[in-house]
Amino acid sequence: MISPLEFSYTTRKNWLQNVGSDTYDLVVIGGGITGAGIALDASSRGLKVLLLEKNDFASGTSSKSTKLIHGGLRYLKQMDFLLVREVGTERAVVHRLAPHLVIPEKMLLPLIEDGTYGKWLTSIGLKVYDLLAQVEGEDQRKMLSAEEASQKEPLLPKTILKGAGYYAEYRTDDARLTIEILKTGLHYELKALNYTMATGFLYTNGRISGVRIKDMLSGSEHEVKSRCVVNAAGPWVDEVRTRNNRIQGKSLHLTKGVHLVFPHAKLPVKQAVYFDAPDGRMIFAIPRGLITYVGTTDTNFTGDPDKVAPQREDAQYLLDAVNRMFDAVHLKLDDIESSWAGLRPLIHEEGKSPSELSRKDEIFISDSGLISIAGGKLTGYRKMAERVVNKVVARLPGNYGACKTETISLLGGSFQNYQEVKAFKKSLESQLKTMGLDRDTANHLAHTYGKQSDEILKRMEEESSNNPQLRLLLAELKFTLAYELVLHPLDFLIRRSSRMYFHMESVRRYHREITREILRENSSLPWSNDEINKDIEKEITLLGEFYKTH
Ligand code: FAD
Repeated sequence: MISPLEFSYTTRKNWLQNVGSDTYDLVVIGGGITGAGIALDASSRGLKVLLLEKNDFASGTSSKSTKLIHGGLRYLKQMDFLLVREVGTERAVVHRLAPHLVIPEKMLLPLIEDGTYGKWLTSIGLKVYDLLAQVEGEDQRKMLSAEEASQKEPLLPKTILKGAGYYAEYRTDDARLTIEILKTGLHYELKALNYTMATGFLYTNGRISGVRIKDMLSGSEHEVKSRCVVNAAGPWVDEVRTRNNRIQGKSLHLTKGVHLVFPHAKLPVKQAVYFDAPDGRMIFAIPRGLITYVGTTDTNFTGDPDKVAPQREDAQYLLDAVNRMFDAVHLKLDDIESSWAGLRPLIHEEGKSPSELSRKDEIFISDSGLISIAGGKLTGYRKMAERVVNKVVARLPGNYGACKTETISLLGGSFQNYQEVKAFKKSLESQLKTMGLDRDTANHLAHTYGKQSDEILKRMEEESSNNPQLRLLLAELKFTLAYELVLHPLDFLIRRSSRMYFHMESVRRYHREITREILRENSSLPWSNDEINKDIEKEITLLGEFYKTH
């Protein structure tokens, strides 16, 4: 296994101290999946790369998706065959690069009386989907009878169930995928700074020759020289383009998507289901350990992208859809345990509604040489990166060769195949049992950190608490402080461990210990214990408590 390299507060401080004295081949603005993918591709081709993220890595859309590596079945309806083929085939590639983090997830598409899809259309659609994505063997779609569908998912409404399509997708953790890509990039000399904003550009003879940056922790400002600059700022792409010149040509169209998290006992689906909402849109219900999450909405967003939050009407829309499909469950706002809301950075097309807008990516190059990329999917990050970096290297002197990320396994993912991941999980399970921890913990560790779980177990043995949950939490935290540039508890709770979405109980119980440990480790961080605890409590309210009606 390739070991993670140090990626800590100290690493960041040293990099920032020297950032003005180097000249980079490429500066990437934006530390979501798009920017991370570009940074890994470029650095692995031999470019000297710096990535800037104004908040935490993956704090934009790349921690707020449905967390599927999927071909986008519904894009078939829009006749977007090229998109379906590209992202469909990419699924298997990304699974191979990180089999612990991109895991097979069979989907059930129920056919119900008066539903959007009939049996033949579904059968043909799924067949085309398999063909475009080159799905083979056992993973190819099956059409199920009503009885078979009901066996797979007993919660489906038996009286109106006509059958189901059953097909293969993959589930992931978007923020972890982003961080593992960045950590892998460090092995190719990539430098990546979170809490560092690109505030403007440097020019030589009218061409961009660098960026002005601001360290959001200390307020210090620096100038960074770079031969090329890529804007991968997701929903902020147009804002960054405006800092360069007036926007020419196409612009962004932001749409908001909300997900809700319920205790699994309240929505006890046995498996992932992709079903109709009353307005004909499609919704996912995905079981994940102790919870089930449901999403998503798709509505126009014209507010401030820094302030996107779920609203009660978003939640009500999803509750109505779930309660209608699974008629034995009666979910209420009070049942919501957590939630998240994200923005799709799509390309505007006149007269199209949010769900009709294409998910294709596009590259814009300004007269001054700023390369911006928008649109696209989490699933297609590697191909998007390849297209952008091809444009970058075409502008640089020298010969950098072709993209090779198809062969670069991500950190934590050095497994031959998914069978090995399963065997690893089994061995983790027996080790954890002796420490008083259960199978869910083994799942969490294996699918979050992969092989790096061994390092976390080692650190767990050094913890003195009698409480195994707390020992594990502190070991995870210390691992992420050393190797994943955690600076604020929310970096850890939301984007490194996903606990704020999928294990809120542990956040409520232990967040004070986490804050204390982060401040003990990095005493010069510019926030106080009280401020941090207020930030966490605000987030707990925003994501969960806010919906409670009592
Ligand atoms: P972001 O993740 O938003 O990253 C951009 C980053 O740039 C941000 O972190 C921001 O802080 C930073 N930034 C902005 N301005 C500056 C600046 N001046 N200086 C430095 N940094 C800056 N795709 C799938 O494949 N599968 C799915 O299941 C799926 N589900 C989705 C569900 C929803 C609700 C949504 C909204 C999207 C979904 N997508 C899915 C699409 C996918 O999530 C996005 O395409 C992808 O995450 C976009 O990543 P990004 O890096 O372009 O943007």
